This record gives sequence, structure tokens and C-alpha cells, in this order.
Amino acid sequence: MSLRGKVCLVTGASSGIGASTAIQFARLGARLALNGRNEEKLKATARGCEEFCDQKPLLVLGDLADEAVVRGMVEQTVAHFGQLDVLVNNAAILVMGTIEDTTLQDYDRMMNVNVRSMLYLTQLAVPHLIKTKGNIVNVSSIGGLRSFPGVLAYCMSKSAVDQFTRCAALDLASKQVRVNAVCPGTIMTDLHQRAGLSEEQYAQFLEHSKQTHALGRPGTVEEVARAIAFLASDAASFITGVTM
Ligand code: NDP
Repeated sequence: MSLRGKVCLVTGASSGIGASTAIQFARLGARLALNGRNEEKLKATARGCEEFCDQKPLLVLGDLADEAVVRGMVEQTVAHFGQLDVLVNNAAILVMGTIEDTTLQDYDRMMNVNVRSMLYLTQLAVPHLIKTKGNIVNVSSIGGLRSFPGVLAYCMSKSAVDQFTRCAALDLASKQVRVNAVCPGTIMTDLHQRAGLSEEQYAQFLEHSKQTHALGRPGTVEEVARAIAFLASDAASFITGVTM
């Protein structure tokens, strides 16, 4: 499994699964463009990558909800490296809420980052990915495949990511651009605390999440990063439209 020389743009690389993916990609020889909003944390990821990289990662800071930022990310990446081979749509937010208390503002915020920005970024990346016969890996969630109480709009957004993956894979197949997604179960990251869970709620959530995976435990960011790296690499050259 190698990404030697491939130019890979990873969103949400300042923490959690995205940060681990960036480091895993660097180990496999990728050249990296890294997005996130938190500059300090993004620089820390870049430092983690540098010991494996020939070329320093390019930092493309900014909020994916801002269309100008999204355009700038693709333009800067291609201007800097001359090509784009892999796009990892990883960034997302989680806002808790049931059918009774999900506000339209929460819905809009989540759909904007988790779905709309992913669509726009991918559209901008596609012409470059066609040139390199590259590929796209979306980070979806078990919440796109199964239903859980209290995370209504998040699950809706992840189901949209899954359908986006399958439809885009068909649209791009004739151009030899692959599109896949990973659908992790619970992974130990900041995502849930950022959603405002209390310590007690988080403990309950972790306990419950053990039952959502056959292995009976939460996963690690490294385990997800390895799956993403596999899909992004030529080792997965016959895999497209898969949500795994
Ligand atoms: P984290 O909260 O640790 O990371 C989220 C990342 O997304 C951060 O780097 C954050 O950047 C970035 N991000 C969020 N909003 C924006 C935005 N508007 N613009 C740019 N960047 C943004 O969570 P995870 O690592 O857990 O989440 C990564 C992916 O994994 C998500 O798609 C999530 O839905 C998915 N996932 C996570 C699971 C879990 O249990 N943790 C399970 C299944 C799927 P910054 O901090 O710089 O703002």
C-alpha cells in the first residue's frame, strides 16, 4: 500500500481522524494539503507529518462553510503541487438533537459543513482528479447506515454522504475516478465533547457504543486512518462506490 508522490487534500486535518489520516498518508509517501480552522492544531498535525515527508505539508486554513475558502483550498493546492490525486472529505460537525428539539439552525449548520461543503469542494476537485485518475474518500459514519436516538440531523447528513458517494462513483466511473466512503462506529475523538455532551452523557454514550460494533469496543483514529489510506491507495484500484 503506497501513496508515494500522490498529492492528497485532507479536510478536518487539525484533529481526530483527519489528523491521523494525514500522518498515515505521510508515512505512505503522500504530499499533503491540510485543511482545518484551528491554526495551532493544524500546525501540530503538519509537524507530525514532517518526519515522513520530503515536502512540507501545505496548510489551507479556513472554514469549509465559506465558499471562497473552499475555492482557495483547491486553487492553492494545485498551484503549489501542480496536481491533485486524492481528496479526503473528512471534516464534519455533530450537533445532538431529536425530532422534537432539532432546530433549523442546527440542521443548516450541520448540512452546510457535512454535506454542502463536501459537494462544493468535490466539484472543484473533480477536474483535477480526472487528470490524475485520482480518487475521493468520504468520511461518513455508522450513523448514515443505522439509526440512533438523539442524533437525527447528523444521521441524515451522513446518509446523504453515503448516497453522494454511490452516485458520484457512478458519475465518475467512466473518467476512472474512484469514490468511496468509510463509515466508522464510535471512535475516540473530540467530536462528541464538542457536541456538548456532559461527562455522564459521554460515559453512557461510550457504554452504548460498545454494542454498536461487533468487536464490542470503540475504535481508534489509527484504525480508521488505515482504512482511508487503503481506499485512497492503488491497492483499492478496483473498488468504487463502496461505503464500508
Ligand atoms: P473531530 O471533532 O476531532 O474533528 C473534526 C475536524 O473537522 C476538525 O479538524 C475540525 O477542524 C474540522 N471541522 C469542523 N468543522 C469545520 C469547518 N466548518 N471548516 C473546516 N474544518 C472543520 O472529530 P472526528 O475526527 O471524530 O471527525 C472526523 C470525521 O469522522 C467526521 O466526518 C465525523 O462525522 C466522522 N465520524 C466520527 C466518529 C466518531 O465517533 N468520532 C464516528 C463516525 C464518523 P477545527 O478543529 O480546526 O475547526
